[in-house]
This record gives sequence, structure tokens and C-alpha cells, in this order.
Amino acid sequence: MASAFENAKKQINDSAGFLSKEYPDKSRFKKAIELLKRPQRVLKKKISIRLDSGKTETFQAYRSQHNDARGPFKGGIRFHPNVSEDEIIAFSTWMSIKCAVVGIPYGGGKGGIIVDPSLLSESELERLCKKYAEFLTPYIGPWKDIPAPDVNTGEREMAWMLDSYEKKVGHHAPATFTGKPLELGGSQGRTEATGLGGFYVLASYSEVTRMIPVKTTIAVQGFGNVGYWFAKFATGVGYKAVAISDSSGGIYDSNGLNVEKLSQLKEKYGSFNKIPKTKDHELITNNELLALKVDVLVPAALENAIHERNVKDIKAKVILEMANGPTTPEADAILSSNEVDILPDVLCNAGGVTVSYFEWVQNLNGYSWTKEKVIKELKKIMDSSFEEIYQVVQQKKVSYRKAAYILAIKRIVNAMMLRGRL
Ligand code: GLU
Repeated sequence: MASAFENAKKQINDSAGFLSKEYPDKSRFKKAIELLKRPQRVLKKKISIRLDSGKTETFQAYRSQHNDARGPFKGGIRFHPNVSEDEIIAFSTWMSIKCAVVGIPYGGGKGGIIVDPSLLSESELERLCKKYAEFLTPYIGPWKDIPAPDVNTGEREMAWMLDSYEKKVGHHAPATFTGKPLELGGSQGRTEATGLGGFYVLASYSEVTRMIPVKTTIAVQGFGNVGYWFAKFATGVGYKAVAISDSSGGIYDSNGLNVEKLSQLKEKYGSFNKIPKTKDHELITNNELLALKVDVLVPAALENAIHERNVKDIKAKVILEMANGPTTPEADAILSSNEVDILPDVLCNAGGVTVSYFEWVQNLNGYSWTKEKVIKELKKIMDSSFEEIYQVVQQKKVSYRKAAYILAIKRIVNAMMLRGRL
């Protein structure tokens, strides 16, 4: 399988072809596209921390700063054993595209540490977060690079990192991190923002394709913060979530699952595969979930979930990507030729970074918004971004992903040209 960064570069190339005729100076445009296919800077360091046992352990850490033509770098930090330099660079590239798709004034960044956080104690994790933030301190800040949560990180980690950063610079600077706890300048609505943003995309898509919520079945792969909130909002207005999974397996009920009840069961049993089978629901595997005959399939877990080998099993008519990079370009090409609409990650999961942007705006102003205001502003951005993409889909007869990339690349390339970077 091609690497995530190979995939990201391929997606850029695919859409650049559609744009080149808009730029009379071909060699300048070509140079811009070449620049977009590499990060501006990749920071890496081996970070050693003291374990509770007294021993020392070392972890490989990264931060990729992809492109800052449209504004400071922005993007999450993930803790996962599968983190690699290639993957972090790919994610930072997708963040540049994502921020441009929704028109917020940032470039793309992404950080990560190769670690399984479930194997560390809370104090070991705190030491790791603080050391990582110390390492990043010269390179981040409200007008440089603004990290946020991603896979296996959240408010707690942001609070530790903020404290470490502020100690080092010697003053408060809450706008350096987003996704913070409310008490430290976090925003109302940040927790549910990614799921809610995806739900707004589903609602807009349903409207233009006349899909009726109560007649629409959904399968959601992944029940972390993103999958949970997406499923909760969708089922809240009547979409039928017939299957939901976590990394251990899935639960299926043809009559539709109750998301709150499922969340309680997960809390009680720890993982889906430990939930006892009842007459109301069946246990299925993640592969079975992906192959279900549903209207909308929602990959909301990790990258490369839908690939060359399992794409032939997909029966859904629509794929709404809530994870980053869940469909490989090869699978994407096959699905598109089968007329499956793929609503791309760079739009569907942009609600998270959009509310991160609101958090940054609030921090810079020393003021906080009500939840109602956050939700209203998020809806405005998600709805208008969908509409812009939909117009390109209609006019150029391209896929939703291509349309999103065309819009985003144009915005980034224009910013690079205006700055005279080419
Ligand atoms: N990690 C999230 C993403 O991939 C959020 C990034 C942010 O809020 O900066 O979009």
C-alpha cells in the first residue's frame, strides 16, 4: 500500500490538473504545486522521560509544518504506536488543505509521538507531554504554529503542554494551543465540534440529493469522540445508525442503535467485543461493518480503512469521511467509478479545527463566546463550505474530493503567489 504522504501528493496532483488553465504562468503554477508536495519544516526529536519505576524510556516525536502561506501552522498532535514521519507529514498536508477548504486563516501542521499512551501512567504521560511542549516551544505560538488534540490526546494533554510552554516563554499565551479545558481558555462546543461539523455536511448532502433522514441507514466505524458525536447528532434527527464499531468490533441492529445506550455499554464493558449479544443486537467485525448494505458509511477511526483489497465489498452509496485519510486513492478511484459519492475528510471533519479557530479568536480577544454562538458560527462555515464545493461538483463534473482540493489548492497557491514565494 502506498504511504499516506504518497496518497496526499497524488490527491494534490489529481486536482492541480484542473487548475493549471487558470494560471497563465505555467511554470510558476508548477512550482507552487511542487512546494505543496513537501512540508516547509519537519521537527523531530527523541524524547526521554523518567518512568515511575525509575527507569528512563525514549520516544520518537515529530512536528511537521507543511505550509504557512495562509496563516500560522495549525493541527493536532497524535499519540499512537503507528505514528511515523511519513504519516505526520501527510496529515500536516491535509491540514493545509482542510483549513483552506473551510476558509480559516491557517496553514497545516501536525505532530505525533510513537507511543501507546495506554501503557503509561498519568504522571508518565504528563512528563511526556511537558517535555514534548518544551521541545516545540521555539517553533510554536499564537502566530507561528497552534497545536491541538488528535488521536489519543485531548484537553488534559493540551493543559499540560500549555503549562510547559508558558513556563518556558514566561507569560500566558493560551492562544498557542486549542482544544484546552474550558477553565484554561477552551471553547464551548469544541468537544462535539468535529462530529457536529460532519453532521452538518450530512444534512446539506441530504438536502441536495433529497435523502430523507428517517429512511437513511448509516454505519459508523469508530466510536471515539468523533464517531460518538457524529452518531449522536445524526440519530438525533432520525437517521438510522444500524451499526457502530470500535477497534474491537461492531454492534448491529437493523432497527437502529441507541447511541447513548451504546455509550453506556461501552463504558460498562470496556470494548464492543465484550458486550454480550442480545436479541436486539448482533456482534459483527469491523470488516463486516464496512461491507454492510447501508446508505451512508462513515469511517471515523484511522487512515486507510478502505483500501484496494476491501473496496470491492463496499455496498454503501455514500461515504462520509470523518477520519483523516480513511480512503486510499486506489479505493477512491474504484468507488468513484461505481458512482459512490465520497464526502471528503478535508470537509467532513473540518468542524474540529473550525471551532479551534473560534477558540483562538476568543483567546486573542480575552473574551468567551456562548455555546449558541459557537454552534451558529460553525454551522455557517460548514454550510457555506459544502455549498462552495457542491457548486464546483456541479460545474466541473468532478468528485466532492476533487472539488474540495481544487478550491483549497487555489486558495493556498494564490496566497503563495501574493507573498512572492514563487
Ligand atoms: N486534529 C484535528 C484535525 O485533524 C483538529 C486540529 C485542530 O483543531 O487544530 O482536524
